[in-house]
Amino acid sequence: MKNTNVLISGSSVAGPALAHWLHRYGFHPTIVERAPALRDGGYAVDFRGEAHLSVLRRMGIMDDVERARTGMGSMSYVNSAGKPQAQLPADLFAGDLEILRGDLARILYDATAHHTEYIFGDSIASLTEDAEGVTVTFERGAPRRFDLVIGADGLHSRTRDLTFGPEERFVKHLGVHCAIFTTANHLGLDHTGHAYRTAGKLAAMYSARHNTEAKAVFYFSSPDLDLDRHDVARQQAVLAERFAGTGWESDRLLRDMRYAPDFYFDSVGQVRMDSWSRGRVALVGDAAYCPSSLSGMGTGLALVGAYVLAGELAAAQGDHRIAFARYEDELREYAEGCQKMGDGVAKLMVPGSRLMATLLNRYYKVMPYLPGKNMAAKIARKTAENITLRDYRAPARPQPGNPLPSHQD
Ligand SMILES: Cc1cc2nc3c(=O)[nH]c(=O)nc-3n(C[C@H](O)[C@H](O)[C@H](O)COP(=O)(O)OP(=O)(O)OC[C@H]3O[C@@H](n4cnc5c(N)ncnc54)[C@H](O)[C@@H]3O)c2cc1C
Repeated sequence: MKNTNVLISGSSVAGPALAHWLHRYGFHPTIVERAPALRDGGYAVDFRGEAHLSVLRRMGIMDDVERARTGMGSMSYVNSAGKPQAQLPADLFAGDLEILRGDLARILYDATAHHTEYIFGDSIASLTEDAEGVTVTFERGAPRRFDLVIGADGLHSRTRDLTFGPEERFVKHLGVHCAIFTTANHLGLDHTGHAYRTAGKLAAMYSARHNTEAKAVFYFSSPDLDLDRHDVARQQAVLAERFAGTGWESDRLLRDMRYAPDFYFDSVGQVRMDSWSRGRVALVGDAAYCPSSLSGMGTGLALVGAYVLAGELAAAQGDHRIAFARYEDELREYAEGCQKMGDGVAKLMVPGSRLMATLLNRYYKVMPYLPGKNMAAKIARKTAENITLRDYRAPARPQPGNPLPSHQD
C-alpha cells in the first residue's frame, strides 16, 4: 500500500467518515479542523434510502445514529396567526432517519478519535506538491509532509481555493439565503415544526433534542449578498431587516437570535466542478459536489462519497491516480442526481411572488388528498438510491499481509 499518510481538512461529516474508512484499510489519517473544538450545534440532516443507510450500517454506527435520531413527525404550515393550514408528512423533509448534524459529527468523531490525529483550531495555509508528496503549511502549526491531501472542508473549501482556484468559479448561488440557530422551544412543539411562508420568505421553527430546545430557520430569496462569513452582527442585521414585522413568530425569534449559541448564516449554493482532484489533492462532500442545503441530500452524499473515495484508494493500493479517477467514475452521476434535487427546490420553497406563495400554500392544503401526494418523497428516495455501492471488502484485489477487515452490513 502506498500513500498511507493522508491529511483531511474538515471535521464535520465527510472528513471523519473518510478517516474511518481510511483507517480500516490501513491508511493513517490526520484531520485538521478550523473550529477550535468539535462543532456540536446545528440543524437536522437526514438519510434516505438504502445507500445511505447501508453505509451507516457498514460503518457500525447505525445504533448510535438511531439513538440520536430526532423522531420528528409531520410539519405544519401556519398562517400569520400561527394557525395550522396544512401538514407535510415527515418523510418528505426528514427522510428515513433524521439526526442533528452536530450529533452526527460527534458520533463520527467518537468513532475515529482513537486512531485519527485531530488538530483543532488550525487550517491549511498552503499546499506545495512534488513527486513524492505534499508539503502543507498551516496557519498556526509547523509545516508537515503528507502523501495525499483531501478537502472535506465544505461549501467554502479552503483546499478547493488553494488547489483549483477561487470559489466564484465553482459555487452556484441558488438565489436564497438561509439562517438557522438554536432557540427556546417557546411554542412547546412536540417532535414537530411550524413553517410560515410569505412572498420571498420562509420562517420556521422545529423542536429538537426531544423538545428541550428548538431550531429557528429563516430562508429568503435574494441575489448573493456576499456578506463577510465571519461578521455575525452584520448577518443578523440583514436577517432582522428582512423579517421584521413579517408575522407569525418572526419578531420573537429575531429577538432571541441575539442570544443564540450557534447562529449560522449563508447563501444557499451548489458546487459544480469538472474534476474533483488535481495531483495528490482531492475533494469530498460539500467541498466537491455540494447539492445545497435545500436538496436534503448533502449529508448522505457526503457519507457515500467518503465511502467510495476511501474504498477506491484501498482498491488501488493507495495509487491516487487510479483511485481518484475511479472515485469520480463511481460517484459523478449519483452526485449530479442529488444536485438536481436542489435545483428546483429553492424556487419552490421560497417563491418570489405573493401569488406563487399563496398558490403553494393552497397546494399544500389539498396535497394530502391528491393521488400524487407522495411523489416528492418518492423522487427523493429514488435519487438517494441511485447508486450501487461496491463492496470494497470483496476479495477482488486482496492485499497480501493486509486483508481488509470485515464489518457489519
Ligand atoms: C441549514 C442547513 C440545513 C441542511 N439540511 C440538510 C438536510 O436536511 N439533509 C441533508 O442531507 N443535508 C442537509 N444540509 C447539508 C449538510 O449539512 C451538508 O451537506 C453536510 O454536512 C456535508 O458535510 P461536509 O462534511 O462535506 O461539509 P460541512 O458539514 O460543511 O463541514 C465542513 C467542515 O470543514 C470545516 N472547515 C471549513 N473550512 C476549513 C478550513 N479552512 N480548515 C479546516 N477546516 C475547515 C468546517 O468547520 C466544518 O467542520 C444542510 C445544511 C445546512 C447549512
